[in-house]
Amino acid sequence: MYRGECLCGTVMYQVNTAISTIECCHCQTCRKAHSSAFAIGVTIDSSSFEFVNGEDSLQAFESSNGKFRVFCKKCGSHIYAYRPQQPKTIRLRAATLNTDLNQFTIKHIHTENRIKLN
Ligand SMILES: [Zn+2]
Ligand SMILES: [Zn+2]
Repeated sequence: MYRGECLCGTVMYQVNTAISTIECCHCQTCRKAHSSAFAIGVTIDSSSFEFVNGEDSLQAFESSNGKFRVFCKKCGSHIYAYRPQQPKTIRLRAATLNTDLNQFTIKHIHTENRIKLN
């Protein structure tokens, strides 16, 4: 079980499944959505995710056709993304976990767009 929250602490959630690998996504939409060189995420079962607090402070933005990015409307932290056509899973924004992220294996995806960081 893991817990996470947005930057301002309004949105709090719990994940009731094991996470082993998280992915760094280097695609351009993640870069822009998170205003960062990459975004880390993990796909989990929707049924293993629940809000502890602040669900009414979320806002969704359809960043590409059928993909919604959900964030705290107070502080802007991205919490998860989902596709209504694939309701069984969500893409959790792993950087919001209140957990030592070094325990997870890291994989890189969409590296064709990767920024060369020194
Ligand atoms: Zn917030
Ligand atoms: Zn991406």
